[in-house]
Amino acid sequence: MPLFGIGSAPRCALGYEGDTMALSMREVAEAFVALEKSSRRTTLVAILGDLLARAETAEMERLVYLCQGRLGPPFSAPEIGLQAKLMMHAVADATGCTEEAIRHLYDERGDIGTVAGEILPAEGRGISLMEVYHQLLAIATASGRGAQAQKIGLLADLLRRLSGPEARYVLRIAQGRLRLGVGDATILDALATSAGDPSLKEAIERCYNLSSDLGLVARVLREEGEPGLRRFQARPGRPVRPALAQRVASPEEALRRLGRCQAEPKYDGFRLQTHRVGDAVHLFSRNMEDVSGQFPEIAEATLRQVGAESAILEGEAVGYLPETGEYLPFQVTVQRRRKHRVEAMQEAIPLRLFAFDLLYADGREFLTAPLTERRAALERLVTPTPDSALALSPVLVTDDATELERFFDEMVSEGLEGIMVKRLDGAYTAGARSFNWIKLKRGYRAELADTVDCVLVGYLYGRGQRARFGIGSLLAAVYDEKRDRFQTVAKIGSGLSDEGWVKMRELLDQDSVPHRPARVDSVLQPDVWCEPHYVVEVQADEITRSPLHAAGRDGEPTGYALRFPRMVGWIRADKHPEDATTVEEIIEMFRIQRLRATSAL
Ligand code: ATP
Repeated sequence: MPLFGIGSAPRCALGYEGDTMALSMREVAEAFVALEKSSRRTTLVAILGDLLARAETAEMERLVYLCQGRLGPPFSAPEIGLQAKLMMHAVADATGCTEEAIRHLYDERGDIGTVAGEILPAEGRGISLMEVYHQLLAIATASGRGAQAQKIGLLADLLRRLSGPEARYVLRIAQGRLRLGVGDATILDALATSAGDPSLKEAIERCYNLSSDLGLVARVLREEGEPGLRRFQARPGRPVRPALAQRVASPEEALRRLGRCQAEPKYDGFRLQTHRVGDAVHLFSRNMEDVSGQFPEIAEATLRQVGAESAILEGEAVGYLPETGEYLPFQVTVQRRRKHRVEAMQEAIPLRLFAFDLLYADGREFLTAPLTERRAALERLVTPTPDSALALSPVLVTDDATELERFFDEMVSEGLEGIMVKRLDGAYTAGARSFNWIKLKRGYRAELADTVDCVLVGYLYGRGQRARFGIGSLLAAVYDEKRDRFQTVAKIGSGLSDEGWVKMRELLDQDSVPHRPARVDSVLQPDVWCEPHYVVEVQADEITRSPLHAAGRDGEPTGYALRFPRMVGWIRADKHPEDATTVEEIIEMFRIQRLRATSAL
């Protein structure tokens, strides 16, 4: 539970008010079947756009969440939290089959949705989408003693009213694995199509970047149309999608692109937004989850030091020892991300949020204001307090390459990751990677300075030593934003301990599918495919062109590939698959690498 009074974000329309029941679950399931059969982006957008157009406002909002495999936005949706075992129980209950028979089928098919789809009758009982939604919500919110039995009972009741095809998708939603090949980018396009005006895409996307809530975007679009989308503003309590940084080859290139600019230390911790709403504080992670209860010292410092009734600040939280002034390394800092034993962890690893941006204060949204104005307002708003958990990142404003390089060296020698260099008149580009922010990391002089965040899409059994674990290498992809697809870029065979490989296989097996997942492009055929889910950080020697990988192929015989890739660290829990490195970034990294190679000659 969040601290300081506010129990949930300001708006998450999960109630019954205004519900109508026009859209049947049968229509939804029919559309989902069609979505599952296609992998062409335009077809997916057309099918989903048509379905959304047929929905009433409240249905449209819920449908969008269900397409995301959730019951609400990421920061306030209750988790359905049913394991396959419990679902088998409910399926047995609803169908009269024995649990043994269900388990047998499940072992063969590997998916409880498929199993229910096969054994439930072809015709349902005309249940509406809203009824399904509310029953799922009741399952998700059942709590306390006997909650498990209650959940199973509620699910069995629901299944009795569903047809096979309907149950197939309802159970997949309940597992958070809908597997329709529809990502957020496709839903955004479909929303524009549903309104009959594809040119609304940009206004829809802006609204999403400011709210992180696709259901809310659908409601604004339907109820207020284009003017509503255009006047939409960020508001404390709803996370803003993060602005992202580009890479360049050198401090000189950064200055060439930005001119006089603001440099800041690049802290190596985790990104947090702190939202003050009166006496309450919400904290949001990089992937828009509400993590308010996890970092009490930052919430308290926000209340003490932020001189506004309502505000949104953004910063990087780093483990920091006030007595010695030392920053703790990333591996230590991330231990604070755990949800348990918060007090003990707080004592062992105190955090400090280095605020680097201001997005909102007392009724004014600052996103479009130039950086200089945002920074000045941030400095006015935050009262500096020695050794407190909230501090401002120091800044250097310069147009001198030597000075910039000196600042960089200083930061690295203090144990930091490098520097961020920012455009003085640049806006905050919510949800987008732009040259308003540039990252210069330690080791930028090396050929491939940065790591690549890859999404795992399958694994190969491997030969030799590792074969005994049943996993020898990982098939990894990057994200093609324009097409909303994952394209393979590497086969990773190192970087994990023996236990790590075993654990990884267990995790990937939970997401395994019998065929190439809908949104994946790959030349290689792994032994086991899995739904794009986990993001891992990968270090490589360089980027090469290769006929073996699909990244950035674009009709050419060769794609881009990582040479000698190895995993560093573990799964990046703070990133969704769509937050992985993009194909565009890979191409940009390839350009920088070539530039370095020629300038080194
Ligand atoms: P990205 O966030 O760009 O997808 P990433 O999470 O892999 O990538 P990096 O590429 O290393 O991280 O760098 C960007 C991240 O650096 C930001 O998301 C933020 O968490 C962190 N950061 C640290 N210091 C700053 C700062 N002064 N200004 C902005 N971001 C900072």
